[in-house]
Amino acid sequence: MLPLSVECVNDGCSARFTPLLSRYHTSVCPQSLHSCLYHSVGCPVTVRRVEMESHIVSCPYKKIEGLFPHIFRPIKQLQTAVSTVERRHWFMLSDLRRNLQIQIDQLRSVIPPHLVAQNDEAAAATTQNEERHQVTTAQPGNKCLES
Ligand SMILES: [Zn+2]
Ligand SMILES: [Zn+2]
Repeated sequence: MLPLSVECVNDGCSARFTPLLSRYHTSVCPQSLHSCLYHSVGCPVTVRRVEMESHIVSCPYKKIEGLFPHIFRPIKQLQTAVSTVERRHWFMLSDLRRNLQIQIDQLRSVIPPHLVAQNDEAAAATTQNEERHQVTTAQPGNKCLES
């Protein structure tokens, strides 16, 4: 059986109401917590409904509201430009990788099979030499970044 009256769960609110009015009270409770009205543009503040008005008066995001079109429009344009470039580069890199793989496959196909193993060993030796070279020529600044 439903209780005849329930108490508001918000700190500082002692309102009692029937369970049927619970949802209504939650939507108007002065002590319920809410993100600042300027949350979507960056204000991190959470306040009780009763304090919202006084927060808005001093909210730094309210003060720069007039600048939003000048800030967010260029940001949106930059985001669009960046994603266009990223997409283009992704396709270019995919094409490049595909073409390189085709060339590698063509080159492999002309190498006599008895030389393939030797070539792989030579490639492995070259890689090891390159790695050793990189270690010996590593700059002190790089070590700081790695640690
Ligand atoms: Zn309440
Ligand atoms: Zn705010």
